[in-house]
Amino acid sequence: MVPALVLLYLGLKSVQRQRDAINALLVSNLRLSGEKLASELEHQTAQLAGACLREVAEVDVGTSDGRQIRLQFERLRERHPIAGYFFLLEGNSVCYPRLRTPPPRQLDSYATSEDPAGGKKFAALFREAEDQELRLDHPEQALAGYRRCYELPTAASLKALALSRVARCCQKSGRPGAAQQAYRTLLENYGDLHDLSHRPYALAAGFEVEQTPARQAQLYRDLVGGRWELSAEQVEYFLSRLTSPLPDAARAATAPRAPVSGRAGPRAEVSHFAGTGRSSAGSEPDAGGDYLGRFEFARALEAGFRHRGPLGSGEVYTYALAGGQSGYQTYYRLVPTGAGRDSLLGFAVNLKWWEQNLLPQCRARLAIKEDVRVVWKGVPGAAPPGRAGAEVLVALPGIFPFLDLSLSPSPGATWSDTTRRGFLVYTGSTLLIVAVLIMGILLLTRDVSRESQLNQVRSDFVSAVSHELKTPITLIRLYGETLLEGESFPEQERRGFYQIITREAERLTHLIDRVLTFSRIESGQQQYHLQEGDLRLVVARTLEVYGQYFKQRGFSLTADLATSLPLVRFDPDGVSQALLNLLDNAAKYSGDSTEVDVRLRGLDGNVILEVEDHGIGIPPEERQKVFEQFYRVPAGAVKGGYGLGLFLVRHIMEAHGGSVEMESGCGGGSRFRLVFPALSELKA
Ligand code: ADP
Repeated sequence: MVPALVLLYLGLKSVQRQRDAINALLVSNLRLSGEKLASELEHQTAQLAGACLREVAEVDVGTSDGRQIRLQFERLRERHPIAGYFFLLEGNSVCYPRLRTPPPRQLDSYATSEDPAGGKKFAALFREAEDQELRLDHPEQALAGYRRCYELPTAASLKALALSRVARCCQKSGRPGAAQQAYRTLLENYGDLHDLSHRPYALAAGFEVEQTPARQAQLYRDLVGGRWELSAEQVEYFLSRLTSPLPDAARAATAPRAPVSGRAGPRAEVSHFAGTGRSSAGSEPDAGGDYLGRFEFARALEAGFRHRGPLGSGEVYTYALAGGQSGYQTYYRLVPTGAGRDSLLGFAVNLKWWEQNLLPQCRARLAIKEDVRVVWKGVPGAAPPGRAGAEVLVALPGIFPFLDLSLSPSPGATWSDTTRRGFLVYTGSTLLIVAVLIMGILLLTRDVSRESQLNQVRSDFVSAVSHELKTPITLIRLYGETLLEGESFPEQERRGFYQIITREAERLTHLIDRVLTFSRIESGQQQYHLQEGDLRLVVARTLEVYGQYFKQRGFSLTADLATSLPLVRFDPDGVSQALLNLLDNAAKYSGDSTEVDVRLRGLDGNVILEVEDHGIGIPPEERQKVFEQFYRVPAGAVKGGYGLGLFLVRHIMEAHGGSVEMESGCGGGSRFRLVFPALSELKA
């Protein structure tokens, strides 16, 4: 037991040491994989960014048309999904995405740029009408003037400008119907164009025409979907105008179709855009559809982007910028914008794409099996714990200082799994050893107690046998001496003495026979010579020899032996001994009764030899035990004997392929039945 417990202790200790070793190994493996992955990611990101920025030379950033720039960026983004928000910086001010609205356009230059042929005439007429409207306050005349402008065969943008003034003058001169008509035309035909203050006609007119939820929702979708290239200021302004009067139902209708994914709805977007509590979208820009996110990025750019040191043309630089959820990683380079000026053109990495595409690619390339997640630094709740305790954070020092890679062991490789296995093996085997030990101890104890019991029984046996031998020997000697000394005994008496001597000698023989048979059985040398025959003969002879002795002891023996019996195979000496043992017991345990019946008959393919007495019987709990060697029912032990009779009977019957059955009740006599399997049917 003590060694087993020591073994258990050592086993558990070793499991613990093993766990610590595996722990350390796993952590260092995880760290190694993480560092490999981090450097591969940095390398790949830089490569992809470089490839994208090499192509920006094709982008015409000189144009003042923001929409043009945006379309070029979108085409670029299709080829380079690494790029999230593009930006253009002049000095430290952000030119794209535009934060502030440029100053209003000058009519003359605008008109000639839009319509080089007729722009001048349009400008003159328009100015005249404007004079009537604004200075002289004659809306009617002004209206006529604007209408003439509108009817001129000129550029659509100029027509739209004239039409917007027509609508305004209709309003002023008390013609709301005509005004609505004009606004609707503006909305429907010139919606994409911008007025002199850079406002889209669709929005400017949209606020004037009769508001319906569907129209509001459409304008909202257009706005957040990026239909117009606007400044951040404008977007904020229009959003507040569009969403504040929007009924809930309309908002609900618009929300699912809003092109910005993963957000709650228009109002949430406005507040996100205003920079209050934006939670995730800033850090996960959509490939191109996140029109509002770019403004937040632009604000972060203006507030936080500072390039240090001289810039080399053609070089790609990188800068991590705080903002959004945690930050943006930008790549940029110098591009000439004409007129000897240079700008910085770059983009913020599309982290969603990076995490969902580049990360798995690099992981697969390096054959990293561990689970890898991206964890935002300093964002509460952004890093839910991985598999219990088994997590290693690896920084990306060159890029993304605001996020870490979290690596946890792939399932099945955690130390908890390994140690659990070790623990089970150790405890299991130790428990097994303990169980085997306990069993051994139990068996040993049982064996020892059996041995001592057997010793006791043997010594009892020796004294019982000696005692049993003593009586006949004493009698034989006594009568022998009497016969020798006194010569003048009458014939009758002398005969009596001889009979006693013969009887006791027979008893002695029987006793010795029993002991010898037992000792032969013990040493495995007992042999039975089975031969085919009729049991009746041997039974009758035994009864004849023993009956005499039986009667002399005052017993009456009734024998009922069937005359025609099936043949059985038997050993005559064995059968005779078995019958004698049973008769002997019947006499010994007869109590007050003196009758013993012996029956021999055939039944159900067996030949049955039955000995019945009416003596003290055997208590039920002793019935199995009486057939064991040396066993004697404690109450009957006084009768002499040594617990071998029934043991021999059973042994003899087993050698005959038969059995011994017993019926007995306490005080009601006993019936022993020897069952011999019959060889054939009735003897002819
Ligand atoms: P023993 O030499 O003691 O008679 P046996 O093996 O013949 O040994 O019998 C075992 C025990 O069975 C006896 O001690 C006795 O108590 C009981 N027994 C055997 N035969 C009878 C019987 N006919 N009537 C009552 N008890 C019996």
